[in-house]
Amino acid sequence: MPDKNVLVIGGGVAGLSAAIDLARLGVGVELVEKADALGGHARQFSCKATEKCVRCGACVVEEKLRDALEHSNISVSLNSEIQKLTKSGGRFSAELQKKDGESRTSETDAIILATGFRAFDPENKKPYGYKLFDNVITNLELERMLREKSIVSRPSDQQMPKKIAFVQCVGSRDSKLGNLWCSKICCGSALRMARLIKMRQPETEITFFHIDVQTFGRDFQTFYEAAQNEVRMVRAIPGDVFKTDDDGLKVSCFDNSAQENVDEIFDLLVLSVGITPGRDTKNLSALLNLKTTDTGFFEASQEGIFTAGAALGPMSIAEAVASAGYAACEALNYLDIQKNWELG
Ligand SMILES: Cc1cc2nc3c(=O)[nH]c(=O)nc-3n(C[C@H](O)[C@H](O)[C@H](O)COP(=O)(O)OP(=O)(O)OC[C@H]3O[C@@H](n4cnc5c(N)ncnc54)[C@H](O)[C@@H]3O)c2cc1C
Ligand code: SF4
Ligand code: SF4
Repeated sequence: MPDKNVLVIGGGVAGLSAAIDLARLGVGVELVEKADALGGHARQFSCKATEKCVRCGACVVEEKLRDALEHSNISVSLNSEIQKLTKSGGRFSAELQKKDGESRTSETDAIILATGFRAFDPENKKPYGYKLFDNVITNLELERMLREKSIVSRPSDQQMPKKIAFVQCVGSRDSKLGNLWCSKICCGSALRMARLIKMRQPETEITFFHIDVQTFGRDFQTFYEAAQNEVRMVRAIPGDVFKTDDDGLKVSCFDNSAQENVDEIFDLLVLSVGITPGRDTKNLSALLNLKTTDTGFFEASQEGIFTAGAALGPMSIAEAVASAGYAACEALNYLDIQKNWELG
């Protein structure tokens, strides 16, 4: 029986990773997940390998899920949320409640908060016609389509689209919305999906409407150069989108690089929605007495409570894993100090 326990809140790739790191070092972990399954957002992503692996990170979550579920030091509570937290004598007492109303108290020595993010809701960008026009979808919906069906079809008639447009920075870098940050992952994710579609459906023309391309990540620059041979890059973000009689989508904008108007009809529009603060951030910040930044994400840790993953701000899967490792180290140091304090 481990003599120290950590409560990890959030079972996405960051929470799973922190739980595994701690469990392997002999700490008992209770992993509390609000949804009915572990894995968080990354559970929906498809492998985007073309001729070779393109380092999208999607398979990391499968590996983490397997390792977490196999480890005897980790217990998992699904459909569960924290309702109340008290601290006494250096230990936390967390009241956990299941969706069916059942509640219980969990005693723990430290907490790792890894509640992730919320994808921007494009219904807040009315001009793009999301939910009004069948053939306007999000990058997350495209991820799921590629994962489930391998190919891309138009929702309106299940036909293969001849012309697809990606619209970048939806809900990010947007002063009207007050979301000034770059979500960091959507350029890479969209271009990887675009190249995968070109490989599987080579007759499809793909246009990429963007402000500029964020080339974060190892090898991404080389990948980006190759992508430009397959994807038409237009340096502009479209305004209003109109539906044509045959369910096409008319897009107009001014291409800043080519200095010309673009007025074109596409069969499918993919909105690259970005990363925004998690739905429960305000509640949890009050409950756990954790500060948030101006952008609404969590600030770094406070005594006994450590933060990890995209709850801290936009980050990739690899970065979420690294941040979880850091939070696990911080928690271990804290547990050591507690132990010495108890012994001394
Ligand atoms: C469209 C899109 C595409 C992306 N593509 C890529 C990609 O190709 N490669 C890449 O590296 N990254 C990609 N990302 C980023 C990737 O999704 C994140 O890096 C990763 O999901 C972060 O993991 P996380 O565990 O911090 O957060 P999440 O995945 O959001 O997981 C958080 C978990 O916490 C749970 N939770 C939330 N609130 C509570 C609560 N109150 N109590 C208990 N549990 C709670 C949630 O249900 C969820 O399971 C993409 C993101 C988006 C939006
Ligand atoms: S990193 Fe991405 S592309 Fe590479 S194998 Fe894993 S899922 Fe596929
Ligand atoms: S990663 Fe690309 S699409 Fe996403 S917010 Fe940054 S610039 Fe825009």
